[in-house]
Amino acid sequence: NSGDSDDDRSIFQLEQDEELRIEVDCPKNEVVTVELRTGMAEIFGTEMVPNNQYRFHTGAKIAIFTFQGCTIVVRGKMDIQPYTSKETPMIMYLNAHAALEDMRKAAENDTANQKENGNRGPVVMVVGPSDVGKSTLCRLLANYAVRMGRRPISVDLDVGQGAISVPGSIGAILIERPASIEEGFSQNAPLVYHYGHKTPGHNSPLYNRLVSRMADVVRERLSANKKSEASGVIINTCGWVRGEGYNQIKHTAQAFEVDVIIVLDQERVYNDLVRDMPSFVKVIWLPKSGGVVERSTEQRQIARDQRVKQYFYGPTGNLFPHSFEVRFSELKEKIYKIGAPALPDSCMPLGMKSEDNQTKLVAVQLTTRDLLNHVVSVSFASATEDLIMTNIAGFICITDVNMDEQKVTILSPQPRPLPDTLLLLSDIQYVDSS
Ligand code: ADP
Repeated sequence: NSGDSDDDRSIFQLEQDEELRIEVDCPKNEVVTVELRTGMAEIFGTEMVPNNQYRFHTGAKIAIFTFQGCTIVVRGKMDIQPYTSKETPMIMYLNAHAALEDMRKAAENDTANQKENGNRGPVVMVVGPSDVGKSTLCRLLANYAVRMGRRPISVDLDVGQGAISVPGSIGAILIERPASIEEGFSQNAPLVYHYGHKTPGHNSPLYNRLVSRMADVVRERLSANKKSEASGVIINTCGWVRGEGYNQIKHTAQAFEVDVIIVLDQERVYNDLVRDMPSFVKVIWLPKSGGVVERSTEQRQIARDQRVKQYFYGPTGNLFPHSFEVRFSELKEKIYKIGAPALPDSCMPLGMKSEDNQTKLVAVQLTTRDLLNHVVSVSFASATEDLIMTNIAGFICITDVNMDEQKVTILSPQPRPLPDTLLLLSDIQYVDSS
């Protein structure tokens, strides 16, 4: 099964329920392609089209799984050789999907019977430490749901990676078709909130408020769409499961009124949640896949940069962002960040807690130090009172600050001028080298 190799080409025969794992480490400007020759196969829940060449760039880690057996051709330069494995949790993941599907059917029948509160499909949350395959499982469950004709909402609360939109934000999208194998889910009209940091612990009060807001809006959207309502919600979370991170998980469960929590890998978190969740919440433990590769801090940073780059330049370099100058005078009273420096409670004005400070708007100084290379969210809000709890229209990046001429250069998906709404500065930085 190691594949018969001919230069850069390897052919793999996969048996029933086997997967082929590929870690793409080709040189930066090259690609690795995979092609399904015979049989049927899928990548994280999306079916492969036979004889189509799927292209992957360096850093991609994929698994091609087959329920029936198949032949796969892999082409490209790789130091890490692809390998097949029979030891996968896929059947367990499929069973989890089947259980969710039963709940969706029940929700649908309740709709038909006009029962109160019974017509909402499962709200499922996937938790576990970093690099256990949470995002991958969410993608799989969403793909299987949509392939059954469902229209679930996918929510991503992982501010470190930001699979919907960019790192430093949380997002939700309606899933209407399976993810593209190369580009992921279609990013049509995502619901996005600005958080501004790459870890949920940086500003926990803000994080929890945004999660509550997101939960309310997702609930509204579900109740406006019968099909989605019966399909439910799939929530991906951060890999922070200890201490305050665990409290955030409990907060998220409450805010979204989750029905099911899937814990990947960590039995301790599973036991804690079984103890702490009300009995109507089903807590399930599932193993992680041996194929998930742990990422170093550096790889995580590279992945973050890639996400931002993809936002501006498209998943395959197919987008062409605009670059233009904006005068400081146009940014005056327009650009804010959330959270004043933390002060101990004893230093706060009477009647205020330091927590209040963390969800306060602060006007941003127009200096190189504060602005250069920062990602900035463009809000739909034009009044400061609504700014924190209003969703985001898109992002720009400040690529140059000219103090002498009092202007900045920005990278933007839209041509000038900047919309007439407020901006929120993020901690996330991106150096545009394109
Ligand atoms: P988490 O969300 O828990 O941090 P991810 O779902 O992002 O983890 O998975 C980490 C990486 O492992 C991703 O690059 C993903 O594509 C890859 N991966 C997941 N499952 C497999 C598998 N079975 N074989 C190979 N790579 C995998």
